[in-house]
Amino acid sequence: MLNKAQKILEQFFGYSSFRAGQKTVIENLLHGHHTLATMPTGGGKSLCYQIPGLVLDGTALIISPLISLMKDQVDSLLTLGISATYINSSLESKEQIERLKQLKAGAFKFVYVAPERFESYEFIEALQAIKISLIAFDEAHCISQWGHDFRPSYRSIVPNLRKLRQQPVKVALTATATGEVIADIQELLHIHPKHLVNTGFARENLHFHLEKGVNKEDFLLNYVRSHPKESGIIYAPTRKITDRIYQLFVDKGIQTARYHAGLAESERQLAQELFIRDEAPLMVATNAFGMGIDKSNVRYVIHYSLPMNIEAYYQEAGRAGRDGEPSDCYLLFSAQDIQLQKFLIEQSQMNEEKKEREYAKLQDMANYAYTRRCLQRYILDYFGDEKGEENCGRCSNCCQEGELKDLTKEAQMILSCVKRMGERFGVSLTAKVLKGSKNQKVLEFGFQNLSTYNLLPHLTEKDITNRINYLVADGYLSIQDAKFPTLKLTPLAYDVLTGKAEVWVKVKANEAAKDASHNEELFDILRGLRKQIATKKNLPPYLIFSDVSLKQMAQVLPAH
Ligand code: ADP
Ligand code: MG
Ligand code: ZN
Repeated sequence: MLNKAQKILEQFFGYSSFRAGQKTVIENLLHGHHTLATMPTGGGKSLCYQIPGLVLDGTALIISPLISLMKDQVDSLLTLGISATYINSSLESKEQIERLKQLKAGAFKFVYVAPERFESYEFIEALQAIKISLIAFDEAHCISQWGHDFRPSYRSIVPNLRKLRQQPVKVALTATATGEVIADIQELLHIHPKHLVNTGFARENLHFHLEKGVNKEDFLLNYVRSHPKESGIIYAPTRKITDRIYQLFVDKGIQTARYHAGLAESERQLAQELFIRDEAPLMVATNAFGMGIDKSNVRYVIHYSLPMNIEAYYQEAGRAGRDGEPSDCYLLFSAQDIQLQKFLIEQSQMNEEKKEREYAKLQDMANYAYTRRCLQRYILDYFGDEKGEENCGRCSNCCQEGELKDLTKEAQMILSCVKRMGERFGVSLTAKVLKGSKNQKVLEFGFQNLSTYNLLPHLTEKDITNRINYLVADGYLSIQDAKFPTLKLTPLAYDVLTGKAEVWVKVKANEAAKDASHNEELFDILRGLRKQIATKKNLPPYLIFSDVSLKQMAQVLPAH
């Protein structure tokens, strides 16, 4: 049967070889094993069910939440001479009834439906009348309530499937699933863990970039102007900002399409078509745009502001480069972005428990903006994907020029200050205390003594804030309670405090020069501390905590 699959690949689809994972998924299904396939966007998930659907007898059923994609998929099957159709709410009811009739007569090799269809008695009845070759759950993360696009209607499918006389083989496919979502899908669809085909989620043609502290409008204009022939998407966090950016381009005479939920259906439709036909190479949109858009030549995706979570970011950024060609994903970040997202969560209709989860996911997203690690690796780690290399060598962190700098001492200052403040406060107050501020809050909470030490005199409060955020992003500090963030030390922090671990960070050339000129100042403070520790007199308050002994502390301080 596998020979047959190979032949179909070549003769029907015109491809010479399988992509990673495809062969294993197809093999599994032909052997009747329910299978879960996790592959990146553009990895070729469709063939994983289309080829077995052609090899096996009967009708293949594909369940997808993306109504707008069904027509394209069906059209391309039809051009290959394969009988296929879709039944969904975009059709008049007369047409739905007609297609149902044909389905019942076994006229189709492939039928695409939305999950809601399983709530229809007539549909189930039609399925009972025919032989089903396989059932594919596309975008299978939507079945899990931990997935970021949970569709409750997916849940009605499994109980309804029991009404079929024979149980067809099932395949679930997704490009965005964390470990808990994978476990959830396996449980709900009764897929054995050994039939997980995981090619990893890495997108080797995508270059992830972080841009901090840029003028966002200027960046967008410059970027778009210097890539005039390329197709790209700019994602904005709100409709209002979408309109503003759109206007910015229109005023400069740049052909632009716009898409958000506040526009009339006809207007959205037109914008989408202009973009897909490359008549407007640039699309400015909210996250309402893109679900089910299969445009292969998108060369860049720019996020104007921090998205709500990594799943959303990876999915949206992942719309670049579906054709496998090198493409760029930019995130323009400023610290206020986090406040905006918090506000959006707060204003949403979600219940408190869900909001808590969203705040925590937002923190993971913010950490992406502050990490100094490989950005692709950060995303893969978020999804629990152990495959792929430690450094992609393509992202802006991997390609950051500059020198590695030992920030261990600074980190020790920051970490000990957090400890001394009782691990009960957030980034902003901690930065103030470290800076030696006499701010009212500092006084109110009784940190004026601690504050007088002015632990990091060579850094501005903003620099200190950035350092703290970096320590959070790379796991030295954790943030508890994402809504009212409180800094806590992690085990790694204790390793740094006791000198078991060092903190090395690649810093830009100009940043390094600035820091170097102040190193002496920092050493002076440390020397002073060392003396005080040696004489055990007048110990500075931030050094008095139980977990790290004075002896250990003395060892990590410079021996001048
Ligand atoms: P996914 O659903 O995983 O995002 P698709 O199934 O839409 O990806 O496939 C993405 C593109 O890759 C399509 O244009 C498809 O024709 C192409 N493709 C799939 N499998 C192969 C293959 N084995 N060889 C070459 N191209 C392939
Ligand atoms: Mg797909
Ligand atoms: Zn990288």
